Amino acid sequence: MSLLIANIGELFTADPECVVRFDAAIVVDGDRIVWIGLNADAPQADERLDAGGRAVIPGFVDSHAHLVFAGDRHAEFAARMSGEPYTGGGIRTTVAATRMTGDEALRANTARLTEEMLRQGTTTVEIKSGYGLTVEDEARSLRIAEEFTTETTYLGAHTVPAGADADEYTALACGPMLEACAPYAKWADVFCERGAFDGDQARAVLTASANAGLALRVHANQLTAGPGVRLAVELGAASADHCTHLTDADVDALAGGDTVATLLPGAEFSTRSPYPDARRLIEAGATVALATDCNPGSSFTSSMAFCVALAVREMHMTPTEALTAATAGGAEALRRSDIGRIIVGARADLVVLDAPSHVHLAYRPGTPLVKSVVQDGTIVR
Ligand SMILES: [Zn+2]
Repeated sequence: MSLLIANIGELFTADPECVVRFDAAIVVDGDRIVWIGLNADAPQADERLDAGGRAVIPGFVDSHAHLVFAGDRHAEFAARMSGEPYTGGGIRTTVAATRMTGDEALRANTARLTEEMLRQGTTTVEIKSGYGLTVEDEARSLRIAEEFTTETTYLGAHTVPAGADADEYTALACGPMLEACAPYAKWADVFCERGAFDGDQARAVLTASANAGLALRVHANQLTAGPGVRLAVELGAASADHCTHLTDADVDALAGGDTVATLLPGAEFSTRSPYPDARRLIEAGATVALATDCNPGSSFTSSMAFCVALAVREMHMTPTEALTAATAGGAEALRRSDIGRIIVGARADLVVLDAPSHVHLAYRPGTPLVKSVVQDGTIVR
């Protein structure tokens, strides 16, 4: 089955060779893009989707999300907006709620959030565990995550559970918990932060995970300029996420390695914190991605468009840089070459915007601009 997407006013490819094309068309065969060119030259196909002069962009790649959880923390948000600081301690509230919730309800909540994301143009999402913090609850979180994405991440080292000793818990996360979770996880992640896991503990979990065959990503330098970013680069992690508090050495490490700096401005928005310095990273030559960090505590948004708008308005990224970071950047943070760009041979994950240009994502924040979504070559919305 082939599909022609005709009359594309502006095609945002996110491909550095040719970022934007005009008066374009795309042909999809099966789940792949097989032809890109001028609309006037477009060949016939079995099916036709008329973009009506609108903009088409790659499906968003949300490379950082925590979707397997129960409950919400709106009261904590309200308290924070009345002046209480964010410490990360609220994770334990969600852990307690998640442990008490059955598989069906957890699965339904994850389904609701992934559907909400797809409706907003996100065609790939990474999903972490991290609200179970027992061998059984972490493994079941990943079993549920695996039903929704191939990009599953073991985050047993999200926080030290209430009453546990940090070193003992780290040993659990490096041992029996990892063993139970590894079959369902592609990635391993650690919250390397004061009050969570220090550099040595994070290194232990990441090294054990790599030995178990998992690829690495790290929650790094969100609240303080700790060792997370340099550890991520040293261990060859695909991504260091947050990167809010960076030293010059951190920036140099990111610019010199192949670890993507994934910025999560929804977290700064929702905790009323200073935003990461995206310009410093871009100008140093680091690869930058944007993701939602969707979670019930510090960033309860499923909208990549909102993160693009924040990156433009608050982090001084250009609309083109921000959308590239939310598509091709996310793909790089997941070490995927088949998604995030509109090029021949790529997976046909595309969004038709109800707008003439990708710039509208930041220019009209909060406006529902997704007209159609194509995922794996199928029109899903
Ligand atoms: Zn996170």
